[in-house]
This record gives sequence, C-alpha cells and structure tokens, in this order.
Amino acid sequence: MLDALSAILDARDIVTTSPDIDPYLEDALGEFHQPAIAAVKPRNTEQVAAIVRLCAEHNIAIATRGGGSGFNGGATPTPEARQIVISLERMNTIREVDTDNDVIIAEAGVVLAHVQKAADDANRLFPVSFGGEGTAHIGGIIGTNAGGNNVVRYGMTRAQILGLEVVLPDGTIWDGMKVLRKDNTGYDLKQLFIGAEGTLGIVTAAALALRPKPRVRATAIAAVPDVATALTTFRRLREEVGELIGAFELIPRSGFEAIRAHKGELNAPFAELPEWATLIELEASAKSLDLNTLLEEALAAIWEDVGLEDAVIAQSEGQRQAFWALREGLGEALSVSPKTLKSDTSVPLKAIPEFVEKTTEKVMAVLPDAIPIPFGHVGDGNIHYNVAVPDSIDLETFRKHKNALADAVHSTAVALGGSVSAEHGLGQLKRDLAAAAMSDAELDLMHKIKNAIDPEGIMNPDKVIKTR
Ligand SMILES: Cc1cc2nc3c(=O)[nH]c(=O)nc-3n(C[C@H](O)[C@H](O)[C@H](O)COP(=O)(O)OP(=O)(O)OC[C@H]3O[C@@H](n4cnc5c(N)ncnc54)[C@H](O)[C@@H]3O)c2cc1C
Repeated sequence: MLDALSAILDARDIVTTSPDIDPYLEDALGEFHQPAIAAVKPRNTEQVAAIVRLCAEHNIAIATRGGGSGFNGGATPTPEARQIVISLERMNTIREVDTDNDVIIAEAGVVLAHVQKAADDANRLFPVSFGGEGTAHIGGIIGTNAGGNNVVRYGMTRAQILGLEVVLPDGTIWDGMKVLRKDNTGYDLKQLFIGAEGTLGIVTAAALALRPKPRVRATAIAAVPDVATALTTFRRLREEVGELIGAFELIPRSGFEAIRAHKGELNAPFAELPEWATLIELEASAKSLDLNTLLEEALAAIWEDVGLEDAVIAQSEGQRQAFWALREGLGEALSVSPKTLKSDTSVPLKAIPEFVEKTTEKVMAVLPDAIPIPFGHVGDGNIHYNVAVPDSIDLETFRKHKNALADAVHSTAVALGGSVSAEHGLGQLKRDLAAAAMSDAELDLMHKIKNAIDPEGIMNPDKVIKTR
C-alpha cells in the first residue's frame, strides 16, 4: 500500500510515523484516537482520485480530514478498519474570485478565514463564521454543514453552496461545479455530500455564493430576566427590523462567571451581572442606514412590553469587538475545562424556554451542585446546553455523572421535537444517539443512500451511521 501511495504522491506528502502522524489521528474533541497506515496529503483532485481508487482496490478505509476542528470524531480513524487519513490541507488554492457571478471557487483545503478575507477584499461577504474559522477548512464546513453565528440571517453552510467537485468512493471525479442560483435538473446531487461528514465522497473544491458586504453594523447587549424574555425580544425585534438581524445570541450569568474564572477578569458592560443577556447585532450594506439609531428606537419601542432590564449599544468598533469577545470567550472558557459537558442541541424556537427550564430540572436532579450554562444561537433555536461543576466536585465524580447529564439534555431536546446535533454533526460521538431518535424509515433511507454510493463502505466507515 505504501509503495503504491509513493507512486502517486511525493514522499513528503506521506506521513506514517509518530510524532508526525499524531495530529492526524485526533480532532478538537480529543476523545477518539486510533492508528492509521498513513496520513496522506494530495495536492490535486487527480491525486485524491488515484488514492481513492487504490483504497477501493485494496479495501482500505478512508478518514477524510479538513482542519481537524470538528467536535465529533468524524475526521479521525475508527477502531475496526484498516485505514488511511486523507488530509486536504495541500489543496488550499482559491481558484477564482468572480464578482460578476458573486462566487468564490475554492479548493477543499482553504481555511475558512482565508475565504472570508478573499470575499472581503472583493467587497463581498462569505457569511459562515464561528470560533474555529481560523482552523476549519472549506471541505470541513461542507462535510459538517457548519452553522455558526450568522445562521439566523444567512442560513447554514448548505445555503452558501452552488456547486461541488467530489471524488466518489470508486475514484470517479464528479464535476458538479455549477454556479447557478436556479437549477432544477433532477436530484440536487451536491446536497448529498453537504453534511455527509465524508461518508459518501471527498469534496475537493466548491463554488461558494457571495453576499453583499455589510458596511454598517449596530451591536448591543441587553439584559433580560429569563429565557422567555430573550425569545420575546428576538421575536419583537424581528417585527421591528426584520432581516437586519445578523445575530442574536444568549449568554447566562453562569456563562459570564465562567469567562471570569477562565480569564481572571470580565469586561462586561454591566455594573451587576444580569441573570441572562442577549447579544444583538444588526447589519446592512447600505452605508446611509443609521443602524445605531434604528436599534435604539427598536429597543425603546419594545422595552416596556418585553420587560428588558438594561441595554448597552456599542459606541465604537472596539466596544463591538469587546461584546463579541464575551461570546467567543465563553466557548473558549468551556472548551478548556475537562469537567464540562458540552452539547449542541436545537429545538423549535417556541420551545426554547421550556427546553432550558426542563433540562435544568433534570440536570439538577442528576447532580444538585451542577452549574448549567445554556448559551448560543436563540435566533435559530440552537442552544448549547453545557453543564459545568464547582471545584468541590472532582473529575472522577463528574465523569461518573456525565452520561446521565448528557441524557438529561438530549432526551429533553428530542421530546420537544429537537435535534441532538444542530451544527456539529454526528461522527463517531453521536452516531448511535441520533439513530435512536430516528424512525425506521429514516434510518433505512440513510443506509440505502450510503450503500448505493459507497457499496464497499470505505468512506469514513461507521461514522454518521453504523455500517450494515
Ligand atoms: C473554537 C471552535 C468553535 C467552533 N464553533 C462552531 C460553530 O459555531 N458552529 C459549527 O458548526 N461548528 C463549530 N465548530 C466545529 C468545527 O469547527 C466545524 O465542525 C468545522 O466545520 C469543521 O471543519 P474542519 O475543516 O476542521 O473539519 P474536520 O474536523 O477535519 O472534519 C469534520 C468532518 O468533515 C469531514 N470532512 C473534512 N473535509 C472533508 C472533505 N474535503 N470532503 C468531505 N468531508 C470532509 C471529515 O471527515 C469529518 O467527518 C467549532 C470548533 C472550534 C474549535
């Protein structure tokens, strides 16, 4: 196998030994770590196709890897199969920035932040944005159908994809790089590969839709007494300013405290920390729109009805960045502690208050000292219900209760018609959890799709759904 790989790739693009191979065997979750025959780094689509043909011939499984910032063990090898890791990191060219068609053509290994920068330089916006954007690749965000902070306005990654180039499990290259906004010629094949987490093929390049660049923004943090008020604020603001809402995030008091504990300080715009706060951002492309005044008037118009407690509108770009640093800092604070349960649930918008309330009851029944930290994207129903514990609870005790805590979160979301994975995908971590919530018909259809496109089961086996 290694000899055959050497005939396709340059020797420096094949890694087989520790410590060089180690980073390719883990993702940001850090829970799954299995060996691989090699990690290989093809430089073009033809090389990817040749490697896949080789793997198909020798029945070697493939773990496809982007930036490795995923949270579900999707990019890492699985225990059973003999496999290689294919990293797309060397395929990092932006092939074209086309402002006539408002499209960027990027290879799978381009870092998301680089695509955002290229769009910005061309006076456009590529709207997918989240804390891992300096690490995640275009192939990875397509593989996971990543969400992030701007979904409420622009949709998930799926909504930004016009065309794909994909290497199929038998090594065929499918050139689906159309740049059409309207195209009803049969099944929309590209959709199959978006969010498939590398189980149906390897995305090698994509045509990404660009949006008008926002030129004005207004950002506020508003204090609210409870989650229901946060949701009403969102609804009423939406009536007042409609599509101008670019982000609407929720942060609990416990979240602010977690940031303070992590950083040793807290730069929050309140004399006293509120029970809950919402981070609200409006954005528009028309320079002449005075969004600060618009936001101020909209908040004043709903203030009494909704029951807002306090609100601060950022007066400078520096203050805006400071507000966002709180939101991003919370993700960072929670990711460093091994004694934190992380979750990625979504529920229908109107169920958000009930979801938080019921989950909190169940979590406290499992561990009365637990510290619930539900936060995230109110505008799209994606609440990351995280649970921390005080210093008095040691790691072992936390681990003993972790599954029961996770069950409290997931069972509540599912009972309310929600999802156990709003944006991070399933990988190895949530495969069985998701399957348990699916109907037989749904699961059967997924297996039929997998088996039709990848009959030998070599593409990321046992991720997303169990091989059968
Ligand atoms: C600090 C931080 C914040 C984050 N915030 C968010 C957030 O707000 N929203 C969100 O959605 N995610 C978030 N994530 C998770 C992660 O960044 C995303 O899931 C991202 O899309 C993964 O991209 P990646 O290139 O790192 O993919 P990887 O982790 O390398 O892979 C992820 C999955 O995609 C598959 N894949 C990778 N490349 C390809 C390809 N070329 N073709 C086919 N399949 C492929 C892999 O096999 C794997 O199953 C965050 C991560 C971090 C570290």
